[in-house]
Amino acid sequence: MSLLRQILCTEITGHVISAGNGRVPALAPKSRVQFAYRLCKRHLNTMEEQPGFRFTDYDCIGFDLDNTLARYKVGNMIEMEHDIISKYLVNKKGYSKEYLLRPLDHNFLIKGLIVDDENGNLVRIAPDGRILQATHGTKWLDRDEINKFYPNWRWTATDLFTEDPLQTWNGPYSEKMRTLLDYYDIVISLIFARAVDSIDQVSEAQHTKKVYNIWPDLLEAAVYMFKREHFQTDEGEYFPKIKQRPEDYYYRCSDDLIRWLSTLKSKGKQLFLITGSHVDFASHTAYNTIGPNWRDYFDIVVSYAKKPGFFTQKRDFIGLDGFRETNPVPLDKLAIGGIYTHGNWCDLKEFLKKHSKVQDPRVLYVGDNLVQDIYTPNVICKCDTVTVCEELEAERTHGFTEHWHPDRQFLISTVWGSYFHCKVTNSITNWYHIMKQHSKICVPSLEYVASFPVDHEFPKVA
Ligand SMILES: [Mg+2]
Repeated sequence: MSLLRQILCTEITGHVISAGNGRVPALAPKSRVQFAYRLCKRHLNTMEEQPGFRFTDYDCIGFDLDNTLARYKVGNMIEMEHDIISKYLVNKKGYSKEYLLRPLDHNFLIKGLIVDDENGNLVRIAPDGRILQATHGTKWLDRDEINKFYPNWRWTATDLFTEDPLQTWNGPYSEKMRTLLDYYDIVISLIFARAVDSIDQVSEAQHTKKVYNIWPDLLEAAVYMFKREHFQTDEGEYFPKIKQRPEDYYYRCSDDLIRWLSTLKSKGKQLFLITGSHVDFASHTAYNTIGPNWRDYFDIVVSYAKKPGFFTQKRDFIGLDGFRETNPVPLDKLAIGGIYTHGNWCDLKEFLKKHSKVQDPRVLYVGDNLVQDIYTPNVICKCDTVTVCEELEAERTHGFTEHWHPDRQFLISTVWGSYFHCKVTNSITNWYHIMKQHSKICVPSLEYVASFPVDHEFPKVA
């Protein structure tokens, strides 16, 4: 189970922030096309050019907010989270100051690590669940050492996860493995590993059994940061910092991206937003990224949607009076321009069908979280998806020498290697496999997409 999912399960908000005047660095459109396409070719030998993908082939287009439409200054966010969580564990839970308050080592970070709390390990896996790479604490494990923890490099939890990630989202195996899937929780890996190192040091000195059980404390720290009520009460340090200096944490959407959204709307497309953030934080984020008129671009907004449950369950939409939740709203009362919490995909699809006046509208969803935004809507709802993956930009290869991801040092790791591919075993990662299997195209950002006309034809991932 991901960290964010755990937080949402405890009825608090979970998501990030950004706002500001920063503009996304530009790259010539032609180079960008070649860039994304060549990267895909490199990371997936089976990739072939397919009939093109066009956003305008869809009647209804939905977006995730955080790290999709709203682009964060992820380096600043990661540093801030590292500071808050490390100090919380030291001051409130008694963890070692010597280990946890060391400077942030961004080279240890990579998106998509899986936490094995029982053994004190971090792992990366192949599409079939095999363990590709692992550390114990911050200590790198070789293939033989991995085999001792996971015989034949297999672990039941990751086998189940690769069969169907939702199997480990709830239930007994959600307690065994935790996925760190996005920039909200990426820094947890380093803090967890340092906590393991500190426990090992004490246990070895005292000749006592090594017991980790660090996750509950990390979860408590995350609840402290992200609890949804804390946005209004200015507790938890995280929301107050983002409210005070949004320009430090968010990029403003470019004029190109705003125009791209407007053009889709003017062509009669239904646009919608589904975010896990509660309405107050989501409004703050959207205001500081899309702009003061952000609501105008969407036919319906769903906040605190609790993905992936939004796509798998039948929860009521809940009305809002300002930021306060009111009563359930039946399908026939959902309004164009409305904003709600909770909700479900089935009713949303009926709403879109009614208002698009298309009998069987083609619906697309765009997001960055590979389980919540890509796998689940594609597998459960048969909805086409587009993956936003900033690592495509950060890892820049194949003749493109521009260093144009502003926070690339936080996204790439010489320790773990490519996000898409494991050099040690010459295997693609499970995350790249999900992108390949369950999304039509993978793009580094919506800014990239918006540098083309809305009816631009992109090469598909095959
Ligand atoms: Mg997101």
